[in-house]
Amino acid sequence: MPLFTLVAGARPNFMKIAPLIHALQKKQAEGVAVKFRLVHTGQHYDKNMSGAFFEQLNIPAPDANLGGGGGTQAEQTAAILVAFEQELMAHRPDLVLVVGDVTSTLACSIAAKKLQIEVAHVEAGIRSGDLSMPEEINRMVTDSITDHFFTTSEIANTNLRAAGVPEEKIHFVGNTMIDTLLAQQPRFTKPQGAPFDQLIPKEYFVVTLHRPANVDNEDSLRELMAAILDGTVGLPLIFPVHPRTAKNLERLGIAAPNLHLISPLGYLEFNYLVQHAKGIITDSGGVTEEASVMNVPCLTLRDSTERAETIHLGTNVLVGTDPKNLKPYLDKILRGEWKQYQGIPLWDGKTATRIVDILLQHYS
Ligand code: UDP
Repeated sequence: MPLFTLVAGARPNFMKIAPLIHALQKKQAEGVAVKFRLVHTGQHYDKNMSGAFFEQLNIPAPDANLGGGGGTQAEQTAAILVAFEQELMAHRPDLVLVVGDVTSTLACSIAAKKLQIEVAHVEAGIRSGDLSMPEEINRMVTDSITDHFFTTSEIANTNLRAAGVPEEKIHFVGNTMIDTLLAQQPRFTKPQGAPFDQLIPKEYFVVTLHRPANVDNEDSLRELMAAILDGTVGLPLIFPVHPRTAKNLERLGIAAPNLHLISPLGYLEFNYLVQHAKGIITDSGGVTEEASVMNVPCLTLRDSTERAETIHLGTNVLVGTDPKNLKPYLDKILRGEWKQYQGIPLWDGKTATRIVDILLQHYS
């Protein structure tokens, strides 16, 4: 019976791993012989960056928690590498499945491959071309040692072909993050209390910022926040602050009556707010995908994206990191002039089933 080890470590991993677990559980319930272990690397460990998602997305408790959180990029990578190697030696699987582009994705694929265990990468092949992003390095290294490439777009397929990946290893399956979005949409929940009680649908913005280029330098963050406050003309701004951003924002002491700096929200609450927002201002990758599918205008405060389909077919626009660029786009949203979601191929809620079918065919 094949054993798959599934890895999740940080917030954007949990939405991607949940539908895969549910698809595997369904197969098991149908009598298919397959076992899996869920390993949490501990990269994110706060309740509101980790535990809350297990509860809301119905993810079973991990079989192992590696406690690899905190520290620099290198310290975190090293801690996860060492602990995951021990996990693999104690419970050697036929396959390690990693998702996305976080430190855990990189560290666990390296540990597996060095023990000659095959690696599947979900969300393979996407590239921003920006090596100043740690995530881009994680993507490139992981894809250089992956055996099964599960992709979200034709652009990712093209990138992998250009890197010499043989066609039979590339599986264009769609987006497991959108599986979760579509499955959970009926359960989205309006958060209670202030400031949420006062929100009028389509009359507020949601802001998320956590990329080093935007939040690590206090001057850039101050300018960015000033441009956001200026361009949104007093409409409420709901800003769930990522732990990475919190310290600098606090130090700047930015305050405005319409600016609501809050703790990270649960998945169901956050996406309720996105669904009903006038627009989203973000530097997240996953949020641009979710906003696109929900047909909500989305401004990305970055110079590049690894998710170009959200620009071509979705509601996302690359604003860049110069705060001066923001106002014309915000004006357009305020005038109600925005492109509509065109549909992105295979982002249909069935991606995890496709992946599990392919893996079972291979390993049974
Ligand atoms: N998210 C959430 N609560 C929040 C902010 C984001 O549940 O307060 C979710 C969001 O819906 C998406 C994921 O977190 O599914 C995106 O994570 P993040 O922006 O940290 O990572 P990225 O996608 O940029 O790698």
